[in-house]
Amino acid sequence: MSTQKLIAGNWKMNGLAADLVVARELAEALAREPAAARVALCPAATLIAQMNWQLKDSAVEIGGQDCSPETSGAYTGDVSAAMLKDAGAGLVILGHSERRAGHGETDADVAAKVEAALPAGLEPIICVGETLAEREAGRAVEVVAGQVMASLPESLNGKAFAVAYEPVWAIGTGLTPTLEQIEEVHAAVRAAMVARLGEGARTAPILYGGSVKPNNAAEILAVPEVGGALVGGASLNAADFLGIIRAA
Ligand code: PEP
Repeated sequence: MSTQKLIAGNWKMNGLAADLVVARELAEALAREPAAARVALCPAATLIAQMNWQLKDSAVEIGGQDCSPETSGAYTGDVSAAMLKDAGAGLVILGHSERRAGHGETDADVAAKVEAALPAGLEPIICVGETLAEREAGRAVEVVAGQVMASLPESLNGKAFAVAYEPVWAIGTGLTPTLEQIEEVHAAVRAAMVARLGEGARTAPILYGGSVKPNNAAEILAVPEVGGALVGGASLNAADFLGIIRAA
């Protein structure tokens, strides 16, 4: 298994052109002192082309936050995987809990988006995670394993991709699971990935996401089977995001 972790920043619906200074500061810091980890920023689709231009020759990769399951046509307001790739993205976050909850995305929808992302040359980061009610009912492992089985299409076999375990109740709340809980769920995610895709799925990184900050990143990233982090709020600030990157 590759030991290089993936630290990806999800800017969500934040950021205007003026905020690209954050990406430039990050790229400059990583040029001075290269990161041990792969680093990516996932801004709003409107910023991808500008960020790509500003980060050319930098080690910082760029990702989208969603894509259409369709390739082209009469889908007003949607953005295709090929459009993201054309604008400069190499990765795409799919099935984030904010899209599952706010836009009714099902596991089947997520799988269809993965099927669209792969031929466009995008590396999907597929998000799964339980709600607080599901965790309190003792169903976290069952729910997350089920999401992995149903959201990962067989066509991922042999392709570069990542899964992100993001407990819904930890996103943007400052709450995090215990390290033991993270280890338990990551082991279950790996088992489900292998059950779904075979032994080849042992190498794809499993990111943890949910209130990762500079002060908790090192201990989370040291948990077995944590192959990186998906970072929301802390990726909007270059110093905070760098603090997490340096912990990897
Ligand atoms: C996220 O948006 O994927 C996320 C993990 O957010 P935060 O780091 O702010 O909890």
